[in-house]
Amino acid sequence: MTSILQPFLVNGPFGDPSVYVDFRFARRALLFDVGDIQSLPARKILRLTHIFVSHAHMDHFMGLDRIVRICLGRARTLALFGPQEFIDRVEHKLAAYTWNLVQGYATDFTLEANEWRPSGELRMARFRCRSGFKREDLPSRPAADGVLLDEENFRVLATLLDHRTACLGFALEEKQHINIWKNRLTELGLPTGPWLNELKAAVRHGDPDDTKVRVHWTDRGGHHERVIPLGDLRRDVLRFATGQKIAYIVDIVYHADNVQRVRRLAHNADCLFIEAVFLHRDADHAARKYHLTTRQAGALGRACGARRLVPMHFSARYAGDEADIYREVEEAFSGNAPEPA
Ligand SMILES: [Zn+2]
Repeated sequence: MTSILQPFLVNGPFGDPSVYVDFRFARRALLFDVGDIQSLPARKILRLTHIFVSHAHMDHFMGLDRIVRICLGRARTLALFGPQEFIDRVEHKLAAYTWNLVQGYATDFTLEANEWRPSGELRMARFRCRSGFKREDLPSRPAADGVLLDEENFRVLATLLDHRTACLGFALEEKQHINIWKNRLTELGLPTGPWLNELKAAVRHGDPDDTKVRVHWTDRGGHHERVIPLGDLRRDVLRFATGQKIAYIVDIVYHADNVQRVRRLAHNADCLFIEAVFLHRDADHAARKYHLTTRQAGALGRACGARRLVPMHFSARYAGDEADIYREVEEAFSGNAPEPA
């Protein structure tokens, strides 16, 4: 089954960690971390609807300038999510520039900053271009379960991790796919069309099987209309498949609490993007820097039951030695290395 989610690393493994998730069949995308994103073309940036920032170290956050620069003057809203103090940081970043000429813009590019606090509260503030990006606080909402975003086709969850500062790990979970058996439609003499999206939405909303679905269409034979119970259509023309899960973990120290939280968040991920900053021989240095080693990253992937592991965020000190990094990660991921301490 082809997933609608198409994730890829924005930079090479030595570059700033960032994962872009494109949506097939939809003009939109999500981004996890926004450090150096010079390699992302404007057309890809303009597809972004939501950006999730693990923490505000420069290599995860400095690219917001490029986003604002490209979106400025466009009628769009972009939602940002980050850990505690995130709204202040967005405010300060925007306040660094002079906005004396934006009041007359025809469009009102808007940033919505969401800050997930340890209490489970999601605070929100809005920054509108035509108001010179002045902060407008909005009502907060509870998100104790870590669900930052819940849409019809997917949701994004967060967990709070320790990097000697609050750092968020993220999981993007696609909901169950609902696909159409095209040949069954033909056999039943039914057309394709927008009614199928309405049918999928009704099924997702849990509408009862006796709900009447009205299908009408016009062809050379004239106008036709049929009324079919939702349950019949569910049985005859729909097929269901589990969605994809993508997890994103960067900048954490390896200790029991972080391990447990990552395991819970990234359980059974189809693809886990994870930092592997230092080689195993430099484990003491990694602990001092609050980062993972290769062996720790591999072991975490294994503990999560991840199907695929994508290591990233390699330290520049290993330039030219990336084969060693991949080998150590793979050994731990496949269970051929001792458990990290
Ligand atoms: Zn960091």
